[in-house]
Amino acid sequence: MTIVETYPTLAEAARAMGRDAAYMAGGTLLMRDVNEGAGPARLIRVSDPGLTRVQTTGDGVRLGAGVTMAGVLASRELEVLHPVARLIGGPQVRNMGTVAGNLFAAHPYGDFAAALLALGALVVLAGQGSARPVEDVLKARDSAGLVEAIEVPRPRDPRAFAFHKVSRVKPKGVSVLSIAVHLPREGGRIRDPRVVFGAMGPTPLRSSGAERALEGHALDTATIDRAAAAACEGLAPFTDQIATEWYRREVAGVHLRRLLTRMEQG
Ligand SMILES: Cc1cc2nc3c(=O)[nH]c(=O)nc-3n(C[C@H](O)[C@H](O)[C@H](O)COP(=O)(O)OP(=O)(O)OC[C@H]3O[C@@H](n4cnc5c(N)ncnc54)[C@H](O)[C@@H]3O)c2cc1C
Repeated sequence: MTIVETYPTLAEAARAMGRDAAYMAGGTLLMRDVNEGAGPARLIRVSDPGLTRVQTTGDGVRLGAGVTMAGVLASRELEVLHPVARLIGGPQVRNMGTVAGNLFAAHPYGDFAAALLALGALVVLAGQGSARPVEDVLKARDSAGLVEAIEVPRPRDPRAFAFHKVSRVKPKGVSVLSIAVHLPREGGRIRDPRVVFGAMGPTPLRSSGAERALEGHALDTATIDRAAAAACEGLAPFTDQIATEWYRREVAGVHLRRLLTRMEQG
């Protein structure tokens, strides 16, 4: 049997956590486990409405951990992330599934987390003053603690960000892979590119090969060819019911080339 405990604040919920407990947000994944009899002994919930708030900050947007994918789609401030949220599950999943929950969703899920990583988002954890890069939280998500909010920097040029999801079932199939790319440019040259693949490792991962190929270059056919050829460097693809590791490796560069070509053509 699973007991549900509801707390008014995240701080109180954090104190109540233990080995026998799991924090529940939208429950889209956790309730599957509970229904199959594989859930934790205690489910910890928080009733604080602040967790569902979207706030504009000086250089970006702060998303409460409990903002749902539907909440993202309802926010004009988060327009850059609409193409990502729109492709996550069907309406029911988008109405319940939260942005923080997506950080902890095992592969092949985690499309939204891939986009957050490409945008260089920061994660505010309960009881910790300073925000941490989303990359750090993804690397240590078993011990990360409770997420209070996610800070998403606003890209200077929204066209510098692009997202592409490859799935077998349209429109709501899960990812064979997804790609989130942020290519800031200075004087026509790419500076500090971020190329992130979802469903190409245990968590969303940056393609070190593609980023190296793009850094300091103009986005032209030759650069795109080099980035596509190096796409799998830094990734750790796997076999699941959706696709084999071999297939994922074969098509990663093909899809990155398509996405970058689309960006090149504006
Ligand atoms: C049918 C279906 C289709 C889906 N399709 C996609 C898809 O196409 N792309 C995609 O990316 N995802 C997909 N998902 C996954 C979906 O996005 C996630 O289920 C959702 O983001 C998880 O959010 P949740 O609030 O429901 O998490 P929950 O189920 O409540 O929790 C999931 C995990 O996150 C942890 N967690 C939640 N909030 C916090 C927090 N604030 N701090 C710390 N830990 C937390 C929980 O403890 C738990 O371990 C799909 C899910 C389903 C069921």
